[in-house]
Amino acid sequence: MRRFSADYIYTLDGAAIENGIVVTDDNGKILAVTDEKALLDPNIERFEGIIVPGFVNTHCHLELSHLHKKITKGKGLIPFVKEVISKRGEKEEVVIEAMKKADEEMLNNGIVAVGDISNKTISAEIKNSSKIKYHTFLEMLAFDSSKSSEAIENAVNLKQAFKTPTSITPHAPYSLSKELLKDLAKYCKRGDNKISIHNQENDEENNLYRYKEGPFMDFFKDLKIDTDRFKAQSKNSIQTMIPFLPDNQNILLVHNTYTSLKDIYFTKRFNRKLHWCFCPNSNLYIENRFPTFEFFKYTNYPITLGTDSLASNQKLCILTEMKLIQKNFEDVSFEELLKWATINGAKFLGFQNELGSIVNGKTPGLNLITNIKYGRLTEKSAVRKLI
Ligand SMILES: [Zn+2]
Repeated sequence: MRRFSADYIYTLDGAAIENGIVVTDDNGKILAVTDEKALLDPNIERFEGIIVPGFVNTHCHLELSHLHKKITKGKGLIPFVKEVISKRGEKEEVVIEAMKKADEEMLNNGIVAVGDISNKTISAEIKNSSKIKYHTFLEMLAFDSSKSSEAIENAVNLKQAFKTPTSITPHAPYSLSKELLKDLAKYCKRGDNKISIHNQENDEENNLYRYKEGPFMDFFKDLKIDTDRFKAQSKNSIQTMIPFLPDNQNILLVHNTYTSLKDIYFTKRFNRKLHWCFCPNSNLYIENRFPTFEFFKYTNYPITLGTDSLASNQKLCILTEMKLIQKNFEDVSFEELLKWATINGAKFLGFQNELGSIVNGKTPGLNLITNIKYGRLTEKSAVRKLI
């Protein structure tokens, strides 16, 4: 049994407890959370700072870990994707070694669960033996509608290599068709299949959907992707996509860098289980721009956080993402940010019975955050994994 105490315990289940104590068994299961000051107990491990549940990273690509510091910054999404395509081929052992390091890095940064996008099965073994809980999204790319059933079949086949939870998901509006979404909705009738889509990561995606023109058309030409069956929609990508998404699955819209207020209001006309995911360090790296954070308060969809991959981030650390948001979006309170970083992601991934809050019976992991000032994160704030 272990007892942890800090200036405040943020349980994410009620108000923060000043000088609280968390009692766990040897496996990290929460046995009690109390505000009694058992100060005479010599077995209490006492820390300066605050204790919060383990973080949930809802958007990562372990498979791209070997591209750390290899992709040019600030060129925009299309050059980024082209560079990733040209550089992602590497010897298997190099890719595996980089993934192992990335998994360890996330664990050390207090991350207990990850929603990871995969195109292959190379990460299956690492996920199976990791201390982190993974959900793998097997990604489908098929802008040409005639390739839809093939893409679904491929993704379903990849699932078999994983012993940890998986689902199949479209990659992004610029790599899907209405047929793919319709086929996916049919597939989703069978049961649980969480969806995670890159959304409006650049404005060219909106141009493509509005007018069928712009750099994506050249990009498709380069990649010899047939665009004949695609028609201009006179509306943004998200507005085109939403009606075709299934209503019985959790759906994560990732990035949302160019999502307008009009888009946000549009989504409210549909009864979908939407969640927003922000990966601000990756947005800075690729597009040198943030989503307009204040727009998203006009929906009550849960917000989660992601690191994206090491191809577009210096490190895989949820606290670093929180610090960047707090610095650039003053309106958001630390308590709200913590929900984004923990319980919201746990619920999205279906891990909420074990993770996301410090509640008796759960095994959420405990993180110590230091250098909090006036209830907000500072430049110096750091995370230390306690369990
Ligand atoms: Zn991504």
